[in-house]
Amino acid sequence: MRVARARLDEVLVDPSPDFDAALDRAGRGPLRAGLAEVLQVNLGRLCNMTCRHCHVDAGPDGHDQMMSAETVEACLALLDRGAFHTLDVTGGAPELHPRFTYLVEQAAARGRHVIDRCNLTVLLLPRCRDLPAWLASLGVEVVASLPHYRPRNTDAQRGEGTFKRSIEALRLLNAVGYGSGDPRRRLTLMSNPAGAFLGGAQYALEREWRASLEKEHGVRFDRLLVLNNMPIARFFDWLVASGNLEAYVRRLVTAFNPAAVQGLMCKTTLSVGWDGTLYDCDFNQMLELPLRTADGAGARVATVDPVALSGRRIVTARHCFGCTAGCGSSCGGATS
Ligand code: SF4
Ligand code: SF4
Repeated sequence: MRVARARLDEVLVDPSPDFDAALDRAGRGPLRAGLAEVLQVNLGRLCNMTCRHCHVDAGPDGHDQMMSAETVEACLALLDRGAFHTLDVTGGAPELHPRFTYLVEQAAARGRHVIDRCNLTVLLLPRCRDLPAWLASLGVEVVASLPHYRPRNTDAQRGEGTFKRSIEALRLLNAVGYGSGDPRRRLTLMSNPAGAFLGGAQYALEREWRASLEKEHGVRFDRLLVLNNMPIARFFDWLVASGNLEAYVRRLVTAFNPAAVQGLMCKTTLSVGWDGTLYDCDFNQMLELPLRTADGAGARVATVDPVALSGRRIVTARHCFGCTAGCGSSCGGATS
């Protein structure tokens, strides 16, 4: 059984800074949700990799934390009840879940935009060899995590040989039409810094990445998203072990950017945990901070009224500074 990870609030000695106070000072608080437009479903913690920065704490031993078939059905029913334009499927490696193809097919048949958050290397497993063509046939957007266009930076985070395998997987995606500008074959790359520093400017980096991947490897993609590493789960452990925790949190706090608040993903996303519990975002999910309805109760995917969740106060803590630092950071990349 896994042990719940420590939170920043439990570890940092200094009681300041407080995220809600920072929002108030900037005239942006309290943080409230709008109407949920994106349903993010975490199918569980099973993954073929064990990356150093993983905020999900996923790995090959994640079999005991996988979404049940009933909860997958409840997610589809929620998709029907709400005003969601997008189903965002994540994990672990969501492709390893036995109901992944069913969930994606059903959402696509309902006319929803579907995102597969893919670690790339999973596409090389024999059981996944037909996935690229299948994803392309349904118009699924592939959001692929690749820490860096330099092999050593990627391998340092994800393990020796990961970059080479990622390039191989990107070529498979390119071969079925991903990365060519076709909106029904959108290939998005997602990058995060290799250490205790912030992500760079997304648009400038995109040019740099495009030039390098095309020239060095003949690989094309449609857009680049840049994330800050969140001080939670495995990255949190690394910050503690390397003595970088206090300095990294200070960096995030100092870089607080009020303009990044409006685009925070928690304002328009509902996140479903593998056991059907609802959260304001994937990060809160990993910290076991469930969303709170107006009367202070939690919510389950099978019974929630998504419209009634609009206007609720979002559950925040100090890790939220990771989303408002610099250009901002979310599953959709920079927020300002
Ligand atoms: S970061 Fe992604 S690929 Fe790496 S272990 Fe976590 S879920 Fe798996
Ligand atoms: S971690 Fe980020 S997305 Fe989640 S509640 Fe905090 S600010 Fe919102």
